[in-house]
Amino acid sequence: MMKEYIEQAEKDLLHTYNRYPIVFDRGEDVYLYDLEGKKYLDFAAGIAVFALGYGNREYNDALKGQIDKLIHTSNYYYNVPAVEAAKKLKAVSGMDRVFFTNSGAEAIEGAVKAARKYAYLKDGRTDHEIIAMEHSFHGRTMGALSVTGNPKYREAFEPMIGNIRFAVLNDFESVAAQVTDKTCAILLETVQGEGGIFPVRKEFLEQVKELCEKRDILLILDEIQCGMGRCGTFFAWQRYGIKPDIMTTAKALGCGVPVGAFLMTEKVGAASLTAGDHGTTYGGNPLACAAVSKVLDLFDRNHIIEHVEKVGNYLEQELDKLAEEFDCIETRRGVGLMQGLVFKVPVGAVINRALEKGLVLINAGTHILRFVPPLIITEEHVDAMTAILRECIKQAEAV
Ligand SMILES: *Cc1c(COP(=O)(O)O)cnc(C)c1O
Repeated sequence: MMKEYIEQAEKDLLHTYNRYPIVFDRGEDVYLYDLEGKKYLDFAAGIAVFALGYGNREYNDALKGQIDKLIHTSNYYYNVPAVEAAKKLKAVSGMDRVFFTNSGAEAIEGAVKAARKYAYLKDGRTDHEIIAMEHSFHGRTMGALSVTGNPKYREAFEPMIGNIRFAVLNDFESVAAQVTDKTCAILLETVQGEGGIFPVRKEFLEQVKELCEKRDILLILDEIQCGMGRCGTFFAWQRYGIKPDIMTTAKALGCGVPVGAFLMTEKVGAASLTAGDHGTTYGGNPLACAAVSKVLDLFDRNHIIEHVEKVGNYLEQELDKLAEEFDCIETRRGVGLMQGLVFKVPVGAVINRALEKGLVLINAGTHILRFVPPLIITEEHVDAMTAILRECIKQAEAV
């Protein structure tokens, strides 16, 4: 049954992904089921999206209620879910202004535009520069691609938007060396995701923040993957005590409904984008914002952040054991429930074996297994995962 759909998909969908040969049909708690009824323990969560797991009754009901009420209005008018979602998002982030988007890439686009406009209003120049990091990932639209530090993703689509410089994450001198009188923003993921699960170092972030303050350069933190509780604080930057001027969020923000946002402090909000500068037809629509609003309620009521801190420590400890046990694993790195196991060999074979055994894992680069499970997983789920993974690695080592 799956085979037919897969063949059809390969005829009809543009082939921009090498997909695993599975058609998922439904989800429940932290498990996915394929069309043939096979059950999988999910440690990928649709790439760090399904934070609350599948089939959360209250979340589903909130969406159904909103569907029956009003799905879309456009941004020519106000709507209650957007007002409520923005208020709650401000409360957990301490930021002052919110713009809702439909995706992560669009949140990055907005952040870049806000930073350029802020600088433009200051000195009237139109040649401002942005410093981004090597091995970063910020999305696939032209602007987001331009600040993505992976030449492989960019090359065929050159020219990019101009005036982007790249520095090395956790190497402050490399950042300082790229600063000019045209620099308007420094952009980085607080924990690099696609690039291989690299957490920013506290000292580096402090130095970058100090540099930004001294030169009135805006600090933009991309929290699209590492935010929304995944690193044991609501946003990963809160762990470091370094507040950005602009930040982006998406992935787990709607827990499956496509929605993102960029947020800014009042300093930037009062002197950057204004009426006519930026817009979106769908962004901030009642359905997406009802999801955000309910997600934020459930995070609070179910103490998700505290839970991540606890189970994240356990995952870390169990992955460290694996790293110690197997020669083919170089190290573990990550924060909370955003972890990577760095292998000396490509991890494709391990992922395929895991899928056969009913465990969903993804990679971050060819050699890194990425663990971004639903935030509601328990220590028992971690044990079940490592038991399967251990078998898969043994098999891979045997060949
Ligand atoms: C996924 C991701 C994006 C892009 O988000 P999309 O919703 O796929 O456009 C941007 N930045 C980071 C850090 C991401 O992980």
